[in-house]
Amino acid sequence: METVNLLLLTFDFHQRDKSTKSLAIANIEASINNNLPGIHVDTYSVDMNQLNRIKVPCDDLKKVLSKHYDYIALGLYAWCKSEVNELIDYIRVKQPKCSIILGGYEVNKSTIDQLQLKYANKVNHYIIGYAEKAMVELLSGKTNDEVINAPLETFEVPPVYQSNVIDLKGITNVRLETKRGCPFQCAFCAYNSLDHKAFSLNIQTIISELEFLNGKVEKVNIIDPIFTIDNYQDIINHLIAINFKPLLTLQVEFNQFGIIMENLDFLSKLAKLNVLLEFGFQSSSQSALKNSNRKMDLPSVLKTLALLKQYDIDYELSVIRGLPGETLKTYREMIDFFIYHQIKNVEFYPLTLLSNTPFHKDKLALKLETYTHQGMDYVNKTKTYTKKDYIAMKKYETYYKNTLK
Ligand code: SF4
Repeated sequence: METVNLLLLTFDFHQRDKSTKSLAIANIEASINNNLPGIHVDTYSVDMNQLNRIKVPCDDLKKVLSKHYDYIALGLYAWCKSEVNELIDYIRVKQPKCSIILGGYEVNKSTIDQLQLKYANKVNHYIIGYAEKAMVELLSGKTNDEVINAPLETFEVPPVYQSNVIDLKGITNVRLETKRGCPFQCAFCAYNSLDHKAFSLNIQTIISELEFLNGKVEKVNIIDPIFTIDNYQDIINHLIAINFKPLLTLQVEFNQFGIIMENLDFLSKLAKLNVLLEFGFQSSSQSALKNSNRKMDLPSVLKTLALLKQYDIDYELSVIRGLPGETLKTYREMIDFFIYHQIKNVEFYPLTLLSNTPFHKDKLALKLETYTHQGMDYVNKTKTYTKKDYIAMKKYETYYKNTLK
């Protein structure tokens, strides 16, 4: 039987010490290898950091695309929409018989009609949601639908590191997931568009992957939107049992973590590991929080941080600059709160306006204005602050950094 050739092609921001292959692509590749050994899979990731120096398709990519492929799957994300657009035209000319598959966050129920119109006669298949099972069904001939939506079940997500689809040579930092989806619905977050509730991956797979990584890498970034759901206790217990050495970064949510933390036994377990807890603080303005569909109260935050200090557990807070409802005054008050309480580990991020989010839909009502950088739209003006205020917010962040240095 003739081999079927598949290329998985993505645009990613490459980072030093990390694999250039994303976990999402590695999961798809491992799923296909496990289920369909007759398919030959190639992967290629274009470094978005290089895009100001190269033009799509760059020479390397032209070389990759000079090989014949039966299928080329492209990841459509907010940051690479125009590049994917150009690439689809290029592939259609160079490989007219190849089936083009489009997946990624930007392919979802609210964009599908638009995409089908835009790419009529160019794209053959669209995958909505997680792609592992959908790709296997398509490549095995189980489906030939134009739009494929194949929800996953836990056992179908393979152990990527033990499957050797990510080469660990020279890699010190890796990503791993223990669950997918998020029970929250923040108005700025694209996770909403996946329309999936949180579900845990197979605990045996997670544990064997962590055992495999122990001693091989320096840092494991658990990319679950919220780690402290469902299987987290079993994972932590197991990591202690195997004397897990790498730094483990875990994303947690203040309110939910506050409840868990009341069980001090959990904190003492975390203290036995090398962990960094990453809290999405986002804002202290009640108006901004309400618009963002989030809840948070400062006394509970202080209580949590005091306990983390007592147990010597490292943490980091992230703030989103300029959520709708924020004003220059509330932003400065928040930063003054950090300074007053000597909260040093705060990172500030711009607000990205992602399609298919409530903020995107309410763009006009909230009077959001944006600027574009590396293909992403960032908000720098809303009904509650001006562009000048936005610049002043950034300056106040520098003041915070200099004060707590
Ligand atoms: S921002 Fe985090 S907590 Fe909110 S919906 Fe997205 S993943 Fe969930």
